[in-house]
Amino acid sequence: MNWREERTKARNTNNISKFLNHPNYLVRDGLLDNKNITDDILEKLSHDNSVQIREKLAKKYIERAIKDSNWRVRYAAINDNPEVPYELLKDLLNDKDLRVKNKAQRLLEIQKDYIYRKDFDNSITIKLVIPGGCNANCNFCYNKHTTNMQKNSSLLKEQWLNNFLISLEQIVLKIEERQPISIDITGNEPTLDSDFFIKVMHKLRSFSLKDKISRITCTTNGIGLKKVAPFMKGVVNYVNISVHDYNQERRNKTFRTYNPTDEYYKEVVQILLDNNIHTSAVAVIYNEINNFPKWRDEFIKWAEKIGFVSLRFRHNVYFNNNNNFLEYMNNTINDKNFYLIQKENTPDSNWCQLTTKNGFLVFFLKGVVDTYKVSPGIEFIVHDDGKAYVDFNKKIPFENYDFPIGYVFDKK
Ligand code: SF4
Repeated sequence: MNWREERTKARNTNNISKFLNHPNYLVRDGLLDNKNITDDILEKLSHDNSVQIREKLAKKYIERAIKDSNWRVRYAAINDNPEVPYELLKDLLNDKDLRVKNKAQRLLEIQKDYIYRKDFDNSITIKLVIPGGCNANCNFCYNKHTTNMQKNSSLLKEQWLNNFLISLEQIVLKIEERQPISIDITGNEPTLDSDFFIKVMHKLRSFSLKDKISRITCTTNGIGLKKVAPFMKGVVNYVNISVHDYNQERRNKTFRTYNPTDEYYKEVVQILLDNNIHTSAVAVIYNEINNFPKWRDEFIKWAEKIGFVSLRFRHNVYFNNNNNFLEYMNNTINDKNFYLIQKENTPDSNWCQLTTKNGFLVFFLKGVVDTYKVSPGIEFIVHDDGKAYVDFNKKIPFENYDFPIGYVFDKK
């Protein structure tokens, strides 16, 4: 029997101890994939004379691993590990290997300034910023505040198409299986160049790591949806259409250069539904609203009539004194016509999910412009140049991110 056959046996055997002292470490390594393996056996393997096996078990037996004679085992114990106790890291500051020492130093710095969010049970988001412009001209548009948005040239778009999956892969592979991953396709206006958007759909459909993505959403003002919707089927799970107001006249004033009608929304929501995609309406609240409860309730009625499954209120992230938003949110939470499902307050967002008596979902989300500044790790960006970043302003390339990846940290 060759070693490959023996390793397959080791992976499936009920007689694990038979393989424990096998002379070939590749066969013993097979035991790590055996579903029947016990903690006792794993503990024994953590003393194995194979560095490869000890490396694989380093995080589980960290106290032993950081005393290992091989630097690779000590490094594996703390690399991408946010839970190394402070005392162990302090000891490693005297490690004879500079790589281990530097890694311990960085983890101690992180522990000083950040709290590791242990109970994070949501997905890590990757924003996919489609290059190009927008047909609307909202005065609160976040793209007006970011510099270097790439211009709408076909050469840049071609380069983006060639590069964005590599960047996506770079991030997904680093997150490993630690958290579910969701992709949010955004822009400028992602569907403005509908032919380009369709090419993006084709690429995403054949993305080799697609099974590692738990869901894909798209945030759009809806301009190109009629044409692109059939190509989103099986790729995009959920669409958010920014509508901002239920009243046509006020909506026109917000978009300034785009005047979508109720009939148009009805039509695109139906087309999306026919392609198994649910659609939410989004409204950025960017100024004070007279009689908010009345406006909100009219908005909900309108959204239900159009066919949206939920309504998402967001605050204007560039307007710091937007306290009205929290007042509107709390007003709704305290309204007996709504039932609160979830509420969360973290450094990167203050949000809640409610339902009306009819089961229509309403969300309030007060987020921040740059999640990296307050909660690194919660979001990564594949930007409009096709490259991976950790912040929306493209200041920090993904390869320079020096926190454990796949975990979320909150600034103290
Ligand atoms: S629709 Fe969106 S991207 Fe376009 S101007 Fe308005 S906020 Fe900006």
